[in-house]
Amino acid sequence: MPLHFQSLRSSSSGNCLVVRTQKTTVVIDCGLGSIRATREILGQSIASLKDIDLVLISHLHSDHISHYPLRVLEDEGIKLKVHHNCIENLINKHLYGTGSKKLKLEEYDTKKFNVGDLVIEPFEIPHHPDYLTCGFVIYHNDKKIVIATDFKDWDGQLDYFADADFIFVESNHDLELLRMHFNPNSLYHMPNPKTAQLLCMAVKKSKKIPKCIMLGHLSNQRNTPQIAIKEIKTAFKKNGIDNGLKLLTAPPYECSEVINL
Ligand SMILES: [Zn+2]
Ligand SMILES: [Zn+2]
Repeated sequence: MPLHFQSLRSSSSGNCLVVRTQKTTVVIDCGLGSIRATREILGQSIASLKDIDLVLISHLHSDHISHYPLRVLEDEGIKLKVHHNCIENLINKHLYGTGSKKLKLEEYDTKKFNVGDLVIEPFEIPHHPDYLTCGFVIYHNDKKIVIATDFKDWDGQLDYFADADFIFVESNHDLELLRMHFNPNSLYHMPNPKTAQLLCMAVKKSKKIPKCIMLGHLSNQRNTPQIAIKEIKTAFKKNGIDNGLKLLTAPPYECSEVINL
C-alpha cells in the first residue's frame, strides 16, 4: 500500500507536513497562524479535518504550533502529541497557562508508537536550548521516511537517516548570505553545507538510495532553492553519489507536490 508525503508550508512563517496512507493521516507540525489559515491550508491537502488521526509536534516554536491551530484541533477533536518534557511549556506558551479540558493532548518520548498502519519513532535533535526538538522516523511496511527540521547539528543521528526511501530535511541558509544578512537565530538551524554533508553520509551508509529528498525550512533572506540544490548536488558529485534521486525544495508558502512512495 502506498505511502504519501506532502509539505503544506515550510518556512520560519509556518510549518505543516502531511504523511498519509489509505488508512492513516498524520500531520507533523501545525504552525499556521490563524484559525482560518489553519482550516484553509489543511483543507488544501486533507478532504475532511476529521480524517486526521494525529498531529505530531516537533517543538514549540510558534512557526510549528501556536494558539489558534490548537483551537482548531480542539474544536475538531483531533489528537495532538508533544514530547513529554514540553507539555507544561505548551500550556504556558500557547494556551495562556490555563490549558484546555477539550484538547486531546498526549505525550511521546523516544519510544516507537503506532498510529493506524504507521509506526513512528521520535528522536531528539539539537536546536534552540530552550526548545527540546524531535525529528521523526516513520515506517509503513517496508518503507521508511525521515523528517527533521529545525536543528543545528546531526552528530550521532546518522542511523535515523540511513536507508530511508524519502528524506525531508532542513537546509536553512547559505553561509555567504548569512554573513551578508546576519541573524543569530540562524545558528540554531542547518546551513546548506552541513545538510549536504549529512545527506552524503546518510546515502553512503544506505543499502538503497532514497527515491526523493526534499529540503525544507529554507530562509527567505539567507537562501534560495537554487543555491541549496546546487550545494547538495555538488557534494553528491564530489562523493561519487549517483544523482538519479529526485531532489526538491519545499515551497515556503504553498503546498509541495505529493511524493508517492
Ligand atoms: Zn521553525
Ligand atoms: Zn524552531
